[in-house]
Amino acid sequence: MRLSQMLFVTLREDPAEAEIPSHKLLLRAGYIRRIGSGIYAYLPLMWRVLKKVSQIVREEMDATGAQECLLPQLQPADLWRESGRWDTYTQAEGIMFAMTDRQQREVGLGPTHEEVITTIAKDMIRSYRQLPVHLYQIQTKFRDEIRPRFGLMRGREFIMKDGYSFHTSEESLKKTYQDMAQAYSNMLRRSGLEFRAVDADSGAIGGSGSQEFMVLAEAGEDEVLYTEDGQYAANVEKAVSMPADAQVSPFASFEKRETPGTETIDKLCKFLKCSPTQVVKNVLYQAVYDNGTTVLVLVSIRGDQDVNQVKLLNELTKLAGNYQAKTVLFLTVPDAEAQQKWAAKSLPLGYMAPDLGDDYIASNPPQPPLTKGGQQDSNPPLTKGGQGGVSPKFLRLVDRTAVDLTNFVTGSNESGYHVVGANWDKEFSLPAMVVGVRTAKKGDRAVHNPEQTLQSARGIEVGHIFQLGTKYSQAMGATYTSEQGEEMPFIMGCYGVGVSRLAQSAVEQSYDKDGIIWPVAIAPYHAIISIPNISDAQQVEVAEKLYTELNQSGIETLLDDREERAGVKFKDADLIGIPYRIVTGRSLKLGKVEVVERATHKSHEILIDEVNYTLKQWIDAAIK
Ligand code: ATP
Ligand code: MG
Repeated sequence: MRLSQMLFVTLREDPAEAEIPSHKLLLRAGYIRRIGSGIYAYLPLMWRVLKKVSQIVREEMDATGAQECLLPQLQPADLWRESGRWDTYTQAEGIMFAMTDRQQREVGLGPTHEEVITTIAKDMIRSYRQLPVHLYQIQTKFRDEIRPRFGLMRGREFIMKDGYSFHTSEESLKKTYQDMAQAYSNMLRRSGLEFRAVDADSGAIGGSGSQEFMVLAEAGEDEVLYTEDGQYAANVEKAVSMPADAQVSPFASFEKRETPGTETIDKLCKFLKCSPTQVVKNVLYQAVYDNGTTVLVLVSIRGDQDVNQVKLLNELTKLAGNYQAKTVLFLTVPDAEAQQKWAAKSLPLGYMAPDLGDDYIASNPPQPPLTKGGQQDSNPPLTKGGQGGVSPKFLRLVDRTAVDLTNFVTGSNESGYHVVGANWDKEFSLPAMVVGVRTAKKGDRAVHNPEQTLQSARGIEVGHIFQLGTKYSQAMGATYTSEQGEEMPFIMGCYGVGVSRLAQSAVEQSYDKDGIIWPVAIAPYHAIISIPNISDAQQVEVAEKLYTELNQSGIETLLDDREERAGVKFKDADLIGIPYRIVTGRSLKLGKVEVVERATHKSHEILIDEVNYTLKQWIDAAIK
């Protein structure tokens, strides 16, 4: 491709809309263009990168025996009602774009394809003889992300490879899952990325596991905890560890103390001269279940620990049945406005005890004026009694870290006062439900080996593989006839890679002050020939000759034949990050051209006749 004929527009300045380096660079270098919030055009250079990433993904998938297909993006609401996800996806989480067609039928734009694929399997797979089977597609997904950001990292329209496998047994599922873990590692390695596979939260489905593939970069939205011995790595949402030992309490007897202005653990411990490990803190959450019931949750946990909201959500989902519900729609720390909707009197915030009275929950919650019905309103107006009401009792949970404490400090339910020297089963009854909801932290001892401490890194989640089990097949009645003649639900797995996110994360991992440094395997072009002086006939002639030869031999080459100063051309070549720049300049006199490696700025004088061969060697070495 000739730059003189390309839509080639680069920007000098960082665009104001971009926060992280990869986003700035992709905009500046003319790879992407913002069309609306979370909506981007992939310009020709970007599209080449995306096609290369897709091709690597496709090759690795095909090598495992998975088959490519293409599923509809427009999905009937009825399918999502069968799986029970329509309301959660369109209203609660609100992530699915939904609309009504002119026959008044509801449809959604696919954020993911479990429903579609399960209905296909239900129709087409009758017998165990047809299993296992694994279908995948590479396609645009739509998600109405609440906070689209960082360009392609979190878009509302993005490219994903999603695959779904069907099995007769857990063993068969595990085999495919392992194959996928390997395929995903291969994809990322081949794309030139530094990554880590980590244990991930598999939500309330439980299942036998899920792993995320994290590209390591400071701008990553996820925190990864791992040990140096390579034995453990997990998303912080899921990570476990051993908490530090609690110190022995200095308080020998139970007593109420005036502790003014100590609504935080920090202030309290300074005031009482004690360790946070001797405190039981009580944290209030508000959960809204899918039948509209609001439950106030009081979690007692050791003062130096934090509640992990993902783990808490999983516990609350397990308890959905107790509230005649299926799942949790929202979990929040209720702010003042939320408290007004159910609190009978003002809460002793910062001074709450594990036995905070249920009479704080109004039996007839006041009806607030109706707010505008926004999809993302996590504080829907409450109605009294039954469905959509507020559970009249606190759900009291205690984290394991608080269970063994003795003579501890905790709130007194009165602002400005705490109690010290308290004990479970004496002053407070231990909540019946003991849970593990603490957040693991950097520096904690590892469970597999207490001599290892957890290290922390930031990561960009580019892939997620998941053992689904029978969640969707059961909900949608998707069964096959087993060898014994029984109707059995399919055992399923699902596997996703964010193709567009992966491409941008490569930039996030590889750039310098001059611009992007593409890994050779996914660079839009391998080489760019810059003609320093377009009115020098010899420079043009050699450049044209190389341009033709290189392209013919499979080295994807750009020709910068614009009427620009050499400096501008070199700057642009660096900015767009093409791995090798060939300059038909001064050394032509010696029958040579200059070849500059983008990553290192190393310059080589190479005989014109040897450029092709040399580049081929370099590219092959870089791609392996
Ligand atoms: P996240 O936690 O980042 O929202 P997710 O858990 O919703 O991701 P999955 O549903 O597992 O993601 O989707 C599979 C892959 O699709 C992710 O690993 C990620 O690479 C990509 N992906 C998900 N959401 C987006 C998005 N809004 N923009 C770009 N890529 C995305
Ligand atoms: Mg998401």
